[in-house]
Amino acid sequence: MIPYGKQNISDADVEAVVAALRSDFLTQGPQIERFEAAIADYCGAGHAVGAANATAALHIACLALGAGPGKRVWTSPNTFLASANCALYCGASVEFVDIDPALYNMSMVALEQKLIEAERKKETPHIVIPVHFSGQSCDMRRIAELKQRFGFHVIEDASHAIGASYDGQRVGACAYSDITVFSFHPVKIITTGEGGMALTNRADLANRMKMLRTHGVTRNPAEMTRTPDGPWYYEQIELGFNYRMTDLQAALGVSQLTRLDAFVARRRELAERYDRLLAELPLKTPGRDPRAESAWHLYVIQLELERISKTHAEVFNGLRAAGIGVNLHYIPVHLQPYYQKLGFQRGAYPAAERYYERAISLPLYFDLSERDQDFIAAALKDLLQ
Ligand SMILES: *Cc1c(COP(=O)(O)O)cnc(C)c1O
Repeated sequence: MIPYGKQNISDADVEAVVAALRSDFLTQGPQIERFEAAIADYCGAGHAVGAANATAALHIACLALGAGPGKRVWTSPNTFLASANCALYCGASVEFVDIDPALYNMSMVALEQKLIEAERKKETPHIVIPVHFSGQSCDMRRIAELKQRFGFHVIEDASHAIGASYDGQRVGACAYSDITVFSFHPVKIITTGEGGMALTNRADLANRMKMLRTHGVTRNPAEMTRTPDGPWYYEQIELGFNYRMTDLQAALGVSQLTRLDAFVARRRELAERYDRLLAELPLKTPGRDPRAESAWHLYVIQLELERISKTHAEVFNGLRAAGIGVNLHYIPVHLQPYYQKLGFQRGAYPAAERYYERAISLPLYFDLSERDQDFIAAALKDLLQ
């Protein structure tokens, strides 16, 4: 089976992890700070806070921005569950903003409309979490204008988008947001096995997230309620978690980061090659925003069902039967049974639902061969005729 995504691990990656394994620190050693500094430097952000995974990073990002009971968080329905669950972990409520049918990111028209209505009802969100779907940035300039006008915080879920840029700046620079979160799960652009990171330009948010990552504990006397009893002394000043990344993971991340630009460049070449191979078929290739350079985490096609005799499931299953590990990103979050129990209705976000009925993620990863890509295109052509 040709997988839909796959990591690339070099000998240098293996050596970096082995060196960390043989060092004095398996966790909370020098590698995590090295990795954080390298990512902050790459993205042009002031601070970076490594975490066990992106879900944990989203959770502490929401908490650092004050999410809690009575607070509203808005995100896209076309995302992985974690973008919405992170708000529920804090006791906040979640709502969704439908997607742009051309780019599959949160629709700016829908966001503005919903904000205007919410303002009238005095129900504006505390935090908006745009998701850079497939690695292509959302319209962050527009989001920043709306942030200014309606007074909400912004967390970019950039789990797909490390190595991407928008308006000439790297995603992660937080030029238009409070916090940006990356994932280093093996299917993402670079990996640490499990891992995530939150970037910000605000020292107070970075501090708060570091504290929440480690049990809500501080060792800084300036933050304590009383004079330290001695050098061993620490204080827990709020309820935090153990959301740390290990030094083994961080060592892998530092090594992977040196190849990030090469990974993205190859993904872009393969995406452009797909565009050419599939141009004549009854399907839509991914829409592009000219201001955004995608990291190409995913290559998603949408079937033009009106022009073919097969169903979406028949084409999907046909590709799987041909040994092609296609996938579907995403089942709209509000259709999940857990969210249905919270009261979300089918039909509430029609663009995301319509997209879900047509979308297929084709294999895309650094080591995908052109031969395999040709085979995938030929299999699609056969199925769609
Ligand atoms: C992968 C992913 C996450 C969660 O990442 P983990 O590191 O696995 O916790 C969150 N949001 C999106 C959009 C993702 O794709």
